[in-house]
Amino acid sequence: MTKLIIAIDGPVGSGKSTIARSVARLLGYSYLDSGAMYRALAWKALRDGVLLDSPASLAVLAENMRIDLTQDGGALRVSVDGADVTEAIRSADVARAASQVAVVPEVRSVLVDQQRRAGQFGGVVMEGRDIGTVVFPDAHLKIFLDASPEVRAERRRREYLAKGQAVQPAAMLEQVRERDLRDRERVASPLARAADAVLVDNTAMDAEE
Ligand code: C5P
Repeated sequence: MTKLIIAIDGPVGSGKSTIARSVARLLGYSYLDSGAMYRALAWKALRDGVLLDSPASLAVLAENMRIDLTQDGGALRVSVDGADVTEAIRSADVARAASQVAVVPEVRSVLVDQQRRAGQFGGVVMEGRDIGTVVFPDAHLKIFLDASPEVRAERRRREYLAKGQAVQPAAMLEQVRERDLRDRERVASPLARAADAVLVDNTAMDAEE
């Protein structure tokens, strides 16, 4: 039986990780969170003091670092050059920096190569912003998830709260809008629905639906 490549794209808080993870589990496929790779790179840039507006330095960093995504039961563990950064890459600072490094074409080309290698044999559910448009334009199934900015910000706010970080609703909405804008308006592989992607607006749906 053909092992499919399933691409799930959408903006922050649209439910990509929740859905991609459960679909992968149901099908016995591997799950790849491409955003975690941009976050891993951003984490390293922040740690090493690499300027986020220096494409050349970021490209060197991307080429010389090793990102490992491993499945640990249902959870995804992320490591950079052997050090576990699973929790560290989920901070608001890293999220913002990830969307900054993601505008750099040289960075994208290094990470997209790695994503293609990881998914080349199929049997994978990959989530991100450009999986159906750039990484796997021939994916067997493409889903574009979306929801209103207010609902997406509220989902994110609750996730942070569950980790003990309280963020005001208005500040969260502002962060979501800022990342949306950067992801949608960048020149290199902007966040966009592929023409053949199924649009699922889950503003009024729960994960089960
Ligand atoms: O999905 P997540 O929020 O973890 O992604 C972090 C950032 O990485 C996004 O805001 C986006 O700028 C970038 N990204 C990307 N392309 C992908 C996945 C993530 O540009 N395929």
